[in-house]
Amino acid sequence: MDASQVWDLIVVGAGPAGSAAALQARLLRPGSAVLLLDKAVFPRDKACGDGIAPHAADELARLGAAHALDGYPPIHRLRIRAPGGGEVAGRPARPARVVPRAVFDARLVEAAVAGGAVLRRERVRTLEERRGLVVVNGELAGRALVGADGANSAVRRLLGVPLNPPGDLAIALRGYAPAGDGPLEQFIGWVPDGWPAYVWSFPTGTGLANVGYGLLRSRFAGGRAELSAGGSRPPRPCSRPPTRPPPTGSSWPGRSAGISGTRRCSRGRSGRGGSRRRRCSRRVPRRRCSTRWWRWASARPG
Ligand SMILES: Cc1cc2nc3c(=O)[nH]c(=O)nc-3n(C[C@H](O)[C@H](O)[C@H](O)COP(=O)(O)OP(=O)(O)OC[C@H]3O[C@@H](n4cnc5c(N)ncnc54)[C@H](O)[C@@H]3O)c2cc1C
Repeated sequence: MDASQVWDLIVVGAGPAGSAAALQARLLRPGSAVLLLDKAVFPRDKACGDGIAPHAADELARLGAAHALDGYPPIHRLRIRAPGGGEVAGRPARPARVVPRAVFDARLVEAAVAGGAVLRRERVRTLEERRGLVVVNGELAGRALVGADGANSAVRRLLGVPLNPPGDLAIALRGYAPAGDGPLEQFIGWVPDGWPAYVWSFPTGTGLANVGYGLLRSRFAGGRAELSAGGSRPPRPCSRPPTRPPPTGSSWPGRSAGISGTRRCSRGRSGRGGSRRRRCSRRVPRRRCSTRWWRWASARPG
């Protein structure tokens, strides 16, 4: 592809939205030139509950990407706990899946590339309009552009679309923990402290459960210390998962999903100021920092 090429479609962000958009564009117009840009190298991790609802599985099948769920069994049970402690549990009409996004998102990128989209690692910094074309970073010209670059979208900022109001922002902490031995069951529990805060535990079916805690940003008064104290304590923050999700071929680097992006190695229990806290403050290469396995997210609720 030479620099003078005009792409029919440029998609910014190769997460599920961007990969699906690129794949769909190629399905609708098989001869079209579709460029998929992402600043990250896949597979990459991100904070997410990893749940895949049944209707999302339907969309994957329509895209010819149903294999993105392979190796992760259907979850037939759902349990929901109200802030007062009341619970309902049962079998939804159709099962869900839980697929770590380090696996799932990479599989979708592979599907988009297999479908004919061109993947390029590039951080989008500028957008201009020139003679009816959109020009990315001063050099990549397209007839149309899709901004699928996530919750902190650069495309949105560059187009001048206002940021989300602070009241609409939520934050979350996510990790992987050993799953129990019982039947696979997704659990969502609302907690009164910080309402509408909630915790979740979504078993992947591979021996691990994605566990997390989320709340509105406005309910989060402090810093990380707040999450390490009292009722807001995240679930088992420094326990290492005993197993890792199964390999998924070339896309899986063979390490636990929740640890990438972590730069500081933190050991021991994380009670703030507690005597059991031992913190290793040395900087370590990402792949060696295997004790902090949880991950922060900041995103819109819902
Ligand atoms: C804590 C939490 C739990 C969640 N749980 C669930 C769940 O259980 N089930 C569910 O269905 N959804 C869940 N979600 C929501 C789900 O994760 C997101 O809605 C979904 O992954 C968004 O996909 P996306 O493709 O829009 O964005 P992303 O997956 O965020 O992809 C955006 C991509 O854009 C790239 N990018 C960003 N900026 C640039 C730039 N300037 N240039 C180039 N590339 C760029 C990024 O590298 C990234 O790969 C959860 C979200 C959070 C935060």
